[in-house]
Amino acid sequence: MRLILLGPPGAGKGTQAVSISEKYKIPHISTGDIFRYNIKMQTELGKKAKGYMDQGLLVPDEVVVEIVEDRLKNQDCKAGFLLDGFPRTVNQAKALEAVLSKMNTGLDKVVNIEVDKDILVQRAVGRRICKNCGATYHVEFNPPEKSGICDKCSGELYQRDDDNEKTVGKRIEVYVEETKPLIDFYREKNKLVTIDGKNDINIVFDEIIEALEGNSL
Ligand code: ADP
Ligand code: AMP
Repeated sequence: MRLILLGPPGAGKGTQAVSISEKYKIPHISTGDIFRYNIKMQTELGKKAKGYMDQGLLVPDEVVVEIVEDRLKNQDCKAGFLLDGFPRTVNQAKALEAVLSKMNTGLDKVVNIEVDKDILVQRAVGRRICKNCGATYHVEFNPPEKSGICDKCSGELYQRDDDNEKTVGKRIEVYVEETKPLIDFYREKNKLVTIDGKNDINIVFDEIIEALEGNSL
């Protein structure tokens, strides 16, 4: 299964990606996670990306496309993949088409998760992530058993630098300008399924699976 998860920041893409990749045994490829890892490791790529990320802006297309192209060539993507947070511009989407076509393959579906703006801000600002295993929580909507501690590995939870109200607002603006046009782009290609992301995490997951399997993939 070759999938894209589309949606504004805080829609629940990363949360759903973990369960979808587990169910279909496909790698979860998050460009945001790749950048955050590079920032942590203080690589050249990390230094380049950090300035854009801190301002809520997109990292330039050519930088992102090269990373994704390399990643898709890995053996573990042969049976499929789940892209989370990529593509984010029409240019990136066209570049992805070219990359997949060179590999003699294409996309199965694009899952678009829809959530209203006020909820997005609440979700992103309350998001906490495990420093150790990367699991995602929410202080109110999906809290860990012990505050600040990961249920899965007892790692320490942290808040992303860009999950403050100001930067989240900017990221949503950038989404509307640059990423939202991808909804029509993929609808015209008959790849799009849209899911109501306001519901509980488990309901959103069930609806995604129903949409994917109901479309006889
Ligand atoms: P994205 O990857 O789209 O930016 P995340 O999956 O990281 O979004 O989710 C953002 C925040 O919202 C996280 O704190 C997560 O725990 C929480 N969250 C995700 N899905 C839901 C949901 N359906 N209902 C309530 N909170 C959710
Ligand atoms: P995310 O983890 O998906 O919320 O992404 C966090 C930040 O990483 C974004 O605000 C961008 O600065 C950068 N980023 C992630 N994916 C992309 C992409 N496909 N194109 C450009 N920038 C990206």
